[in-house]
Amino acid sequence: MRHLASALSWPRVKALAQGGAVALLPVGSTEAHGPHLPLSVDVIIAEEVCRRAALRLKPDVVQFPSVTYALTDFAAPFAGTVTLSAETARLMLEGIIGGIASAGFSTIALVNHHLEPAHFRVVHQAAKLAVSSKVVVPDHRRAPTGPALGHEFMHGGSHAGNYETSLMLAAAPHLVDVEAMKRLPELAVDLPAVIKAGAKDFLECGGVDAYLGNPAGATAEEGERLFALLTATVVTALES
Ligand SMILES: [Zn+2]
Repeated sequence: MRHLASALSWPRVKALAQGGAVALLPVGSTEAHGPHLPLSVDVIIAEEVCRRAALRLKPDVVQFPSVTYALTDFAAPFAGTVTLSAETARLMLEGIIGGIASAGFSTIALVNHHLEPAHFRVVHQAAKLAVSSKVVVPDHRRAPTGPALGHEFMHGGSHAGNYETSLMLAAAPHLVDVEAMKRLPELAVDLPAVIKAGAKDFLECGGVDAYLGNPAGATAEEGERLFALLTATVVTALES
């Protein structure tokens, strides 16, 4: 069963932690996601994966309030994006993990859906520094999940493209501007290649509207398929 920490008293949190509940921490960002999606895409996806994972996990789940700010240099040129330095982001995460651990949770999962490589490094670093709890970082970029998420995902053109737009159509369709989405031409960018060539933000990658890939082809059905894979990654990581 899923419990939202924001709605619990401290004795309830203590009892759940001592009873073997698992703590989930959704991690996202506040960053531009094309002209058709809101700034909170990564947070919404992370929270939805936590919700679905909790339905499948045997132990009780306590879902903590999401991390909504992150290192997000790639979207920094676009209005509304808030980026933190790597040091600030790491210290913030360390503090949050330490706080959750001090309640007595034996296992904490960081469910991260902001995929900027420098940010994912920060998440892994913060997880390693935790001492009193086991901290799990399910990483859906790795095989077997990554390749199953599709060509666009694996080649990095997944920022506000088919991948994230499909997930949003499944999780929060009211927040997708479908008319704007349908008008967007495909921007097939090999993100790892352009980053290797020196690109430091989405503008330099050719993403002039803060999206890459093919949002116009997104569907809710594809979003459901993707959520099943992402949810299984979290469940597997916690059960192993
Ligand atoms: Zn995103």
